[in-house]
Amino acid sequence: MGEWDLKSMKIEELEEYLERLGEKRFRAGQLYGWFHRKQIRDFREMGNIPNALKEKLLAEQTWVSLKEAERYVSGLDGTEKYLFELGDGHVIESVLMRYRHGNSVCISSQVGCRMGCRFCASTIGGLARNLAPSEMLDQVYMIQRQTGERVSNVVVMGTGEPFDNYDNVIRFLELLTDGHGIHISQRNVTVSTCGLVPEIRRFADRQTAVGLAISLHAPTDEKRRTLMPVANRYSIAEILSACRYYIGKTNRRVTFEYSLVAGVNDGEEDAAALARLLKGMLCHVNLIPVNPVRERSYRRSGEARVRNFKNMLEKSSINVTIRRAMGRDIQAACGQLRKDYADKKKQENDYADLRQD
Ligand code: SAH
Repeated sequence: MGEWDLKSMKIEELEEYLERLGEKRFRAGQLYGWFHRKQIRDFREMGNIPNALKEKLLAEQTWVSLKEAERYVSGLDGTEKYLFELGDGHVIESVLMRYRHGNSVCISSQVGCRMGCRFCASTIGGLARNLAPSEMLDQVYMIQRQTGERVSNVVVMGTGEPFDNYDNVIRFLELLTDGHGIHISQRNVTVSTCGLVPEIRRFADRQTAVGLAISLHAPTDEKRRTLMPVANRYSIAEILSACRYYIGKTNRRVTFEYSLVAGVNDGEEDAAALARLLKGMLCHVNLIPVNPVRERSYRRSGEARVRNFKNMLEKSSINVTIRRAMGRDIQAACGQLRKDYADKKKQENDYADLRQD
């Protein structure tokens, strides 16, 4: 079988695939339309496809469709957190945020993560596996279907390191922004990375309008290493050089995410050092008061300190915003996504086993 499942294939690949099966090539466009424009969940929904072909496809290929396992709606801001079950029983999380400018979906790119950032909940259980392009797409499709509201923005900022799953994420982006599919504008999509330098450069070479966000979180390598193990692999200088390369290729500004941790990276000297690093660069800094994670002892910076940090950057003419935390009452905020559901299920099963004994 091909490398991809049906919903991860481009039209040309579907054409070739159908031809190999002895089917007509024009069926590819029909299938693609059902998968990506109409976003069907079930093969039976494809009215103009003969049953014999449906059966043949299902026998030959995997059909990816996520199952909604749980959904939480924030009482604070209408943010919704979705737990989706994958074909193999793994569970992933996605978040829908409603903004004035439209609906934004934050998707996961892996089951778990192996980057090990100290303040992040998604990495606690390590990496289970990569997500297929179709499994990333389906997070957006399911949420659009469930709400009946158009999704206009997508951020790859949920669980996982997108550039640790590079090929699948690139394919996902191609299908997501394709004019024959759900057609989300490249400009409305952002990929966030902890700073994998070779992949940032490869991404830049593609010269698309998809946005790039870098999780920086510290102004010196020494401090960054205490928060992010990946800082042992790539220096800030290498990351910034790759960012300049991206800007040169795309003419788009880079977003730097900076989670403020009380007493760790939120001092005036940190702000001054950060301002020196970024001065003159086509960029934007997004300050995120760190979200407390049950298993971690980090505390968020106080409001005054956050403001002060912001003011210092602004004085150096750096574009900066403070990220509004959405869905805090449903553990949907940045860095809080984790496999509680899987733990709960496992516990239930363990209890069931006990009862059987
Ligand atoms: N792996 C990618 C994308 C996922 S994380 C990356 O590192 O960019 C999305 C953002 O949330 C990153 O900037 C990450 O550092 C940040 N984050 C993780 N845990 C957090 C927490 N507890 N509080 C605030 N931000 C957090």
